[in-house]
Amino acid sequence: MPTSREYARLRSRMVDEQLVKRGISESRLLDALRMMPRHQFVPEEHKPHAYEDRPLPIGDGQTISQPYIVAFMTENLRLKPHHRVLEIGTGSGYQTAILCHLADYVYSVERISRLAEVAGARIGDLGYSNLDIHVGDGSQGLPDQAPFDRIMVTAAVPRLPDVLCAQLSQFGGQLILPIGDAPAQELKLIARTADRFTTRGLLGCRFVPLIGRYGFDSKTDSTSFVS
Ligand code: SAM
Repeated sequence: MPTSREYARLRSRMVDEQLVKRGISESRLLDALRMMPRHQFVPEEHKPHAYEDRPLPIGDGQTISQPYIVAFMTENLRLKPHHRVLEIGTGSGYQTAILCHLADYVYSVERISRLAEVAGARIGDLGYSNLDIHVGDGSQGLPDQAPFDRIMVTAAVPRLPDVLCAQLSQFGGQLILPIGDAPAQELKLIARTADRFTTRGLLGCRFVPLIGRYGFDSKTDSTSFVS
């Protein structure tokens, strides 16, 4: 097993070679990625691979996303330190921790209670307390806590859920999410000003499905999706 010094070296190489070389440039985000111990968010047997250029299994048929996808989605949200953020699909909690580092407060919703518990404990151990993890169907958002300055969905939806658009702040709220069926989707950015919404396609991608009322059916074959 690598030592913490070796992990730090692998992490620095991940940022330089996988992220900066592909155009990730926001300095606050790069600082967060340089310090966040990604290996602590994956199961023991995958720790030596935590800084590789790919998603990894985290149990329960779910994955931690490829580092570049985490960085790309976060950069495109243009987070400010005062933002209230909703994340749907906590998973390992790695992306959640990056959001906690960059924003004021993060609400994260995870469907699988074991993942939510483990993620919450990891993020707490790292010293972040500006978050609230909910167990439930995030495809419906968190209407009681809306509006949000930013919403990030980290699992694929078949179509844009109106219910999430309605939970965006009217003053420049933005939502990023992968839309489409297996095996590939497109990352889209939705921007709201008052009651006007604009949509921009950003990147082809592959995510596990969002299972829920405004996502995919629970009988969906997740193995045909990859994150
Ligand atoms: N960003 C995460 C990370 O850094 O580890 C990876 C998220 S993983 C690709 C997608 C997550 O969405 C899974 O943990 C899955 O259980 C969760 N999910 C699927 N459907 C959901 C739903 N309706 N509500 C909340 N979470 C859901």
